[in-house]
Amino acid sequence: MTLQIAEVSTNSKAHEPRVCWARQIRQTRAVAGSIKSASSAQPGAGWIPFHPNPRKPGYRLPVGAVDAHCHVFGPAAEFPFAPERKYTPCDAGKDKLFALRDYLGFTRNVIVQATCHGKDNSAVLDALRTAGNRARGVADIPANISDAELRSMDEAGIRGVRFNFVRRLVDTRPQEFYLDIVERIKQFGWHVVVYFEAQDLEGLTPFLRSLPVTVVVDHMGRPDVAKGIDHPNFRRFLTLMEDMPNLWSKVTCPERLSVTGPPYNDVVPFCGEVISRFPDRVLWGTDWPHPNMTTHAPDDGELVDFIPKIAVSVTQRRKLLIENPMRLYWPEEGIGQ
Ligand SMILES: [Zn+2]
Repeated sequence: MTLQIAEVSTNSKAHEPRVCWARQIRQTRAVAGSIKSASSAQPGAGWIPFHPNPRKPGYRLPVGAVDAHCHVFGPAAEFPFAPERKYTPCDAGKDKLFALRDYLGFTRNVIVQATCHGKDNSAVLDALRTAGNRARGVADIPANISDAELRSMDEAGIRGVRFNFVRRLVDTRPQEFYLDIVERIKQFGWHVVVYFEAQDLEGLTPFLRSLPVTVVVDHMGRPDVAKGIDHPNFRRFLTLMEDMPNLWSKVTCPERLSVTGPPYNDVVPFCGEVISRFPDRVLWGTDWPHPNMTTHAPDDGELVDFIPKIAVSVTQRRKLLIENPMRLYWPEEGIGQ
């Protein structure tokens, strides 16, 4: 009898998150439906919205910590999603992002243009203007952008451009397209953020080596964690970091890379390796509101609790959370120089 109760209880607990997500998806759809006159956007089928009530992290972030990779989606009624987008998310605007920043204990954000907004950076720019000195941004721009537009983006807090080479998310372009953009942004001291998958690194390496600016790789180049840290693809990435002093890595998104799921312990060795070898060139971020998750909505409090597992010393955590992002995004403040 006791055993049966235990089994029932375990099962119901195991299924609890799924029920919760399903409910939230239904709620989000209902809300989106109710404002249909103001916006035609509804989350795509199977879209998993961000966690509705993340836990308070047990790990207390140091004052000045930067969430150096997050996004805003819309809200679509104000900032419509791009017609060429490959996914339609739920709304996740600046107010929610800043509330999460304060709840988790971050001081600042770096907001990265999401592909659902294409090359219209209005939602990010609006968030940056609201946050003032507490946020910087990374944009997605066309090569024919005017100098005046670039200057106005720089004034709003944009400090980099993102090149996305993940084919399921965007249509990629010839290398000249990207090199033209780099030529344009160099004058502002901006850097380049690149997003690609592990199997594409070899082909991209000559291009990455040719870039005359700081290059930040999203999510460690998305290693296949099931293959272990000794797999040639991950070794190739580490070797490139060794060879290129201008190459940085975000040690982010364990929730995407993990095979075993929360608390993402199978990703720890990968982040730990990058941080211990390149402590001055790593960044950390929540990736809220977690675009295109296929299995679950991560608990952002749990993600913060992942940090001390990968950055095991006070010095590593100070560099990861404060000194490195400050050097890249707020160099005028002289922290971490
Ligand atoms: Zn992201």
